[in-house]
Amino acid sequence: MKKRVYIIYTGGTIGMQPTSEGYAPAPGYLAEQILSMPELKSDLMPDVEIHEYDPLLDSANMTPDDWYKIARDIGEHYDNYDGFIILHGTDTMAYTASALPFMLEGLGKPVILTGSQIPLCEVRNDARANIITALTVAANFNIPEVCLCFGNQLLRGCRSVKVSTDGLDAFASPNLPPLGDIGVEIRIHKNLVLPAPQSKLQVQELKQVNVGALPLWPGIPAQVVRNFLQPPLQGLILRAYGVGNGPTNNADFLAALEEATARDVVIVDCTQCLRGSVHLGDYATGSALARAGVISGFDMTAEAALAKLSYLFSQNLPVDEIKRLMQMNLRGELTT
Ligand code: ASP
Repeated sequence: MKKRVYIIYTGGTIGMQPTSEGYAPAPGYLAEQILSMPELKSDLMPDVEIHEYDPLLDSANMTPDDWYKIARDIGEHYDNYDGFIILHGTDTMAYTASALPFMLEGLGKPVILTGSQIPLCEVRNDARANIITALTVAANFNIPEVCLCFGNQLLRGCRSVKVSTDGLDAFASPNLPPLGDIGVEIRIHKNLVLPAPQSKLQVQELKQVNVGALPLWPGIPAQVVRNFLQPPLQGLILRAYGVGNGPTNNADFLAALEEATARDVVIVDCTQCLRGSVHLGDYATGSALARAGVISGFDMTAEAALAKLSYLFSQNLPVDEIKRLMQMNLRGELTT
């Protein structure tokens, strides 16, 4: 029997058309184009249903409410389909791909995000191949994970980052090898894929919480940090240097962090480096941050750490439990 795949089109370049102000989403266009693709007649292709969101969004306009809307949509259609594809703008695709795994607890089917750098309406485009590849993976492989499929790679969603504004291999997962290589054949690295879940899918709520991210830069004024940490901020991803270091000769900077952690603001240290992990004990400039109450984000991407913090605050957990879970691997987002 043919597999069934549910496609959600949220917006993004993939289905845009040129306007006088540049590319903009074009309602109805993408669904019509996909349904008329001759490739869909192949036995390797699933039956598809396409749900186009209204309004279609450039992903620069997406918010956590949109992430939760997608998660609920998957939850509502979960039993009737074998896999799910989310067509999404590339700008914030890594954020959505990082947030969905936390909301989709007990996910046992593939959920694949894809999009394109060139719209399907252009003669030369990467949209067609990305759609066909995502459909092939969703229908033919047993991957109980949220993935991001783009160019020649299948990546774990909560490990992905956008690394190129204009390359057709626009994404990477710097701290985890790809789950699959898309070449002449599609090779899935089963040893890297998460095991099937023990429990049924439960869509976890994502609320509007007050979290943010702040990069350090040489000379950052302590007052900027203090202002950033003011209520209602509940949690901060601090993008620190190297293995998680900061300007600890600046006593006022440390005091700003300490005042905030004493008020139960959760501060998570993630590195500005693309690759590698935070080790707060390696340098005195990291140990001092830990003493100020900052916790390690280990090798999580800032996107994943931000999404995880939003999810944990949405669960109304005690702050100590949020800190404990931030430092544990919940969905394959962190190497232990
Ligand atoms: N601005 C677009 C978006 O993220 C870019 C893209 O889709 O590639 O929606």
